[in-house]
Amino acid sequence: MRRLSASIVDALSVDVEGFVESNAESFGRRVPTEHGPTDRREIERNMAAVFQLLDDLAVRATMFFLETVAVSLPGLVGQAAELGHEVACHGDRHERLSGRGRDDLRVGLRRAKGRLEDLAGAPVLGFRAPEFSITRSNLWALDLLGELGFAYDSSVYPIGVHDVYGIAGAPRFPHRLANGMIEFPLSTVGVLGRRVPVAGGGYVRFAPRALTEQAVRRIHREGHPANVFLHPYELGPAAPRVGGLSTARRLRHYHGLRTGPRKLRAMSARFRLGPVHTSLEAAGHALDSGGEKVSPAERRNRTSPSSPLAGDVTTRA
Ligand SMILES: [Zn+2]
Repeated sequence: MRRLSASIVDALSVDVEGFVESNAESFGRRVPTEHGPTDRREIERNMAAVFQLLDDLAVRATMFFLETVAVSLPGLVGQAAELGHEVACHGDRHERLSGRGRDDLRVGLRRAKGRLEDLAGAPVLGFRAPEFSITRSNLWALDLLGELGFAYDSSVYPIGVHDVYGIAGAPRFPHRLANGMIEFPLSTVGVLGRRVPVAGGGYVRFAPRALTEQAVRRIHREGHPANVFLHPYELGPAAPRVGGLSTARRLRHYHGLRTGPRKLRAMSARFRLGPVHTSLEAAGHALDSGGEKVSPAERRNRTSPSSPLAGDVTTRA
């Protein structure tokens, strides 16, 4: 098949986490500890499959690591870097940012970034919030990411239909924020006047392969790369069965889990996939990786808690 835009590199990323911690807040209750985040065998098994699959496809991707995963499986971070994947940060733990305070988050993310950089032996440029939990209520988190030296964020879902996340009317494509960072929103296309998420996780699991590919081509016709993300349990063999879920929840979390590798193989044959930073740079977005921007003394003296980015998001819809 002819590639529509040879210069476009679509971003491929894996949010490295276990099935249960991925969905724990959605399940809305405690799950048995044998399925909990302390069980890392699932992640190890799935990530071995992810690395093998990507190697077979000669594709490099971005691995958004949780600090908790890096602590229990430090070798995995080094392995990802050695294999040529980009190591990025998915937070210190898998908890929605919406419920967290600025100081708590600053301490956690600074520590997580430093730990990942030590393990990867390279600067960590990118961040993705657990469950895309940067919304209108906590845009200050983007300021914080800039202060901590992140060069890009990929947490904003520019939709208004999901029960947990999304910023309706936010820009759909990569753009520079007022603090110099690049925001790479999760991919959507317009359907009957509404924005529909298309290129990650459950949206890839539920959609027929051809539909996802059609959406990526539409995004290319608009002149931009797609932002494709998956989880280890969507590409590897292990997904723990969690009992007591409603039929709707079971469908939402388990449907199509086995289709991930096949869909990714097909996508890699049709599109040029690469790490997020490569995708952004190919699209002309230079990344600044100059480390922390504000000294602790300056931070103490900051008086305005409001985000200079609020206007950015609302005026560029
Ligand atoms: Zn996650």
